[in-house]
Amino acid sequence: MNIHEHQAKALLRSFGAPVAEGFPAYTVDEAVGAAKKLPGPLYVVKSQIHAGGRGKGKFKELPADAEGGVRLAFSIDEVEKHAGEMLGNTLVTAQTGDDGKQVNRLYIEDGADISRELYLSMLIDRSTSKVAFVVSTEGGMDIEQVAEETPDKILTLPIDPDAGVTKDDAGKLADALKLDGEARGDMLKLAPVLYKAFTEKDMSLLEINPLIVMENGALRVLDAKVSFDGNALFRHPDIAELRDKSEEDEKEIEASKHDLAYVALDGNIGCMVNGAGLAMATMDIIKLYGAEPANFLDVGGGANKEKVTAAFKIITADPNVEGILVNIFGGIMKCDVIAEGVIAAVKDVGLKVPLVVRLEGTNVEKGKKIIDESGLNVISANDLDDAAQKIVKAVQEAS
Ligand code: GDP
Ligand code: MG
Repeated sequence: MNIHEHQAKALLRSFGAPVAEGFPAYTVDEAVGAAKKLPGPLYVVKSQIHAGGRGKGKFKELPADAEGGVRLAFSIDEVEKHAGEMLGNTLVTAQTGDDGKQVNRLYIEDGADISRELYLSMLIDRSTSKVAFVVSTEGGMDIEQVAEETPDKILTLPIDPDAGVTKDDAGKLADALKLDGEARGDMLKLAPVLYKAFTEKDMSLLEINPLIVMENGALRVLDAKVSFDGNALFRHPDIAELRDKSEEDEKEIEASKHDLAYVALDGNIGCMVNGAGLAMATMDIIKLYGAEPANFLDVGGGANKEKVTAAFKIITADPNVEGILVNIFGGIMKCDVIAEGVIAAVKDVGLKVPLVVRLEGTNVEKGKKIIDESGLNVISANDLDDAAQKIVKAVQEAS
């Protein structure tokens, strides 16, 4: 689960990280009110969307030479002007895709005088099974580009979970960031603070880009992106409350209500599969035969008729779906239950695209019989290979 920058900053502040004063705002009036509470004379008006690259982003509704989604303001009047231009408009950044994202909230922050922009992130490093810091002197830039062009400017430092962040670790981070004086002292304090926040709150990613050295020599968290491990949210009700559903894919929200593991993708063949591994294999084989999956969907081992119906509705609601492949291996799950669910769903929502069903395992004959006798236009397949070829062919023929 992702949260907004202002929420991430409030959380990091509560652990003791150096964060500027600021307030979220949902209207122009609130933005002006927020600015009046800040010392000035420099304010920053920041679009709050779950995507980065806002500063260099463009608003669809504004002229091409208008400023982006993060703007400096030198008076309250300017805050008002920027807020009016941003709220309700659609911001397109390198991370939003062409559709962009509507800006529904802003963050009004006390502006900083920047001396240097650095990069710091934390992630779960699967190769060492540890939480790792990733730091670079090249802040404010696209870190993937830095990794590609000047990998020697990036330090990855895994942290021993028993020892936590040692003085030696923090020193290595400060060295890599070429920090001295007050900023160095700030870094030695910040590293353990961030590690504590990361592990206590079950974060999966924390990215501060940029972490800045201010003109006065102190360190400050200028941008913050935080993602949490969804499987750990049950033990953090305070974090779960920060979820902003307007930032998420509607189909994925609907799927989560039914406890379905669903990820929307860009292709045209909808998939309904049980088991994550089989779902991945199904996506692979669709690609092997030259088409693209419209989604990942694992209905799970214990799916019932209601769950299958819900899954089917979510797949058919996607306008990109031109064909559906149901691939079920009945182990705990029985093929006749799946068949009934599919038939019920088809009768309920209607079938406007070709549907291929491949069933195997427990009660497979019963399941196939239910489908054959339904009178519905369902293509049955014998195995995964056969199923993938049939759905790709059916979609090609239909278009
Ligand atoms: P992003 O574009 O979505 O990554 O948003 P950021 O929060 O990283 O802001 C983009 C850029 O705006 C930063 O890299 C800074 O150069 C600039 N910026 C943001 N806040 C301030 C500030 O307080 N003072 C100054 N001078 N620049 C800022
Ligand atoms: Mg940034």
